Amino acid sequence: MSVRQRLYPDPGQLVGLRKHADDARFVFNLGLEQRSFWRREKHTRGTHAEHGSLDATPITLGTQMRELVQLRAALPWLWAGSSSVQQGALRDLDQAFANFYAGRAKYPAFKRRDDRAGGFVVRDIFVRRLNRRWGTVTVPKIGRVRFRITRSWADITQATSARVTLRNGRWHIAFTTPPAERTLSGTGAAVGIDRGVRNTLATSDGRMIQAPSLTKVEQARFLRLEQRLARQSRKDGGSRRRQVTLDQLAVLRRRLADRRTDWIEQTTTHFASTYDQVAVEDLRVRNMVRRPAAKPDPAQPGVFLSNGARAKAVLNRSILASLWGRFLTRLEHKMGSARVARVNPRNTSRTCAACGHCAPGNRESQAVFECEACGHQGHADTNAAAVILGRALDSISAAGHAVPGRRSPALAGSANQSDP
Ligand SMILES: [Zn+2]
Repeated sequence: MSVRQRLYPDPGQLVGLRKHADDARFVFNLGLEQRSFWRREKHTRGTHAEHGSLDATPITLGTQMRELVQLRAALPWLWAGSSSVQQGALRDLDQAFANFYAGRAKYPAFKRRDDRAGGFVVRDIFVRRLNRRWGTVTVPKIGRVRFRITRSWADITQATSARVTLRNGRWHIAFTTPPAERTLSGTGAAVGIDRGVRNTLATSDGRMIQAPSLTKVEQARFLRLEQRLARQSRKDGGSRRRQVTLDQLAVLRRRLADRRTDWIEQTTTHFASTYDQVAVEDLRVRNMVRRPAAKPDPAQPGVFLSNGARAKAVLNRSILASLWGRFLTRLEHKMGSARVARVNPRNTSRTCAACGHCAPGNRESQAVFECEACGHQGHADTNAAAVILGRALDSISAAGHAVPGRRSPALAGSANQSDP
């Protein structure tokens, strides 16, 4: 679990933070280049190179750590930086490769200057509380940097490591704590959740929950700025006006991001304290069975098409996709992954939750479900959520785990309830 707080460095500290981030990126990229080179060589010549300069010894975190020592001795500017920060970058790289080999992630990519995943790691945490709202964290070579306390101080003091990041011109520190104590609802209740575009979340007990978005006025402004940016980028770039447009867009993005983060925290807390078991679609499978979302104009990356409605749809889809991922991550933090079941998403929208009959004709419209076999009627998203729950309960009982007090999903009373 991670607790993110905003840093308020003074101007001198700002220089130091940038230096750490630059050093970490340099070391990460250099280490990645080394590992990639070694892999290519291994492929072309086989593991046991008989001649040439290739050393057949694999590159590991250990070998790279030793080489970092030599590199620091050779480069004064690197020597001037923090060895702990630079070692952290190699650990990051090692973790990125571990994730890649385990099939959890793509091949590691080089970090760019504006990379969101950039920043650096602080390994030993020393925090101090100044007053109710302010605390400091000790950053190597920089000293105590102030941050604003918006989360539980206990969570922050339990942190075992932290990552400093720069995003949208703001510095943050994310304190990583050991997994939080699971919220146990003790209600014995189970719920299925379907995600959609019209209703962000629909539950099997009939609730529709909307994620916050930009207001109509903000959305219109966002699209105008996007279009302005597209025009500005066609002229020779780097102009001050273009920077102003980028800043204005960043303000809107930040506002939306803050609203979404609050929403995710509140909603996941609600689910964790209300239900013992939550069922969702397995995204990894879902991406294979559902048509991929339409993409923005490939001829002009990042530029939305002139059609306002289409642009809005594209905007909403990309926002919802990332929202859902973060929602699930936080839900698993709070409930534990065993209580969040992921089920096969195939045909969840065409299957009847009451009788199991599956046919394309079941779905009368986007919003209404009516079963051709048994006549069961309901909101289409509620029905899909109930199917998801049913699949989870089936697989749990098939796996031999006792599921006390859980019957098939109750559809009674599923109509017309809305989110309080
Ligand atoms: Zn039916």
